[in-house]
Amino acid sequence: MEDTIVVVGGGLIGSATAWQMAKTGQKVILLEQQPEEYDKGSSRGESRICRVFSRQHPVFGLVHTRTVALVKELLTFLNAHDPATQHSLSHIYNSSPVTYAHIDIYQTELKTLSKTGGLEYIYGSDMASIKELLGLDIGEEQPSVVFKETNSMTGTLNPKKLISYLHKGIKAKGGEVYYAHQVNSLELTAEGFDIIVNNKTIAASRLMLAAGPYTSSLLQGIYPSISKVINPR
Ligand SMILES: Cc1cc2nc3c(=O)[nH]c(=O)nc-3n(C[C@H](O)[C@H](O)[C@H](O)COP(=O)(O)OP(=O)(O)OC[C@H]3O[C@@H](n4cnc5c(N)ncnc54)[C@H](O)[C@@H]3O)c2cc1C
Repeated sequence: MEDTIVVVGGGLIGSATAWQMAKTGQKVILLEQQPEEYDKGSSRGESRICRVFSRQHPVFGLVHTRTVALVKELLTFLNAHDPATQHSLSHIYNSSPVTYAHIDIYQTELKTLSKTGGLEYIYGSDMASIKELLGLDIGEEQPSVVFKETNSMTGTLNPKKLISYLHKGIKAKGGEVYYAHQVNSLELTAEGFDIIVNNKTIAASRLMLAAGPYTSSLLQGIYPSISKVINPR
């Protein structure tokens, strides 16, 4: 059997994964239950916050920087593939937000992140500097510090656009993207998996499930105890 990878779920995660595999020449089929106009699922809509600074963990900064580099690479490929249609990062990213913070809490983290996580920022710590540097009149509500990320491409990302570009990339590399394909059943075979969808069977040597919260229910048939390992809680 030809080595075919099937990805179930064409949100941001499944689409990005399918693109990564297609670009290295692997045979990929992406199955998405929605029509081509993506308007359900976690990746729906036109805006998601994306920035380097995160109170949760510096890894978010590293992931952001890596994502921007990978998106640039995708656009370079698409622009070379079809010179008549040029795509730009500004179609996907919007400019940086201002983040308000209290210096006592954040100062150490900001410094650490600028050293280790690539965070670039400017800040003001009084009304005058905040107005001069950031163009903000904070009036009476004066926090101890206001900082603004200056890393390029922090602010918001448009998931709908990014998904459409990822699908273009997959198809341009010879991969297939099928919409209105809801996978209802998976079977283990000697060579991999049979995926039953729209009354047909697609054979896969490898399978990637990126169906968001439905991922574990899809695995139920071949791995009944999956809900003990992964569940919505
Ligand atoms: C309202 C909201 C706001 C958010 N804000 C932010 C933010 O500001 N910043 C940020 O970083 N993150 C944010 N997130 C989180 C982020 O959007 C998600 O982590 C991300 O979109 C998850 O992508 P995914 O591909 O895993 O899931 P999804 O986008 O849900 O993709 C799963 C896909 O699988 C498909 N599918 C499911 N079952 C099947 C099946 N049986 N057969 C075929 N296809 C199937 C679905 O239709 C869907 O398209 C937000 C999420 C929500 C809901």
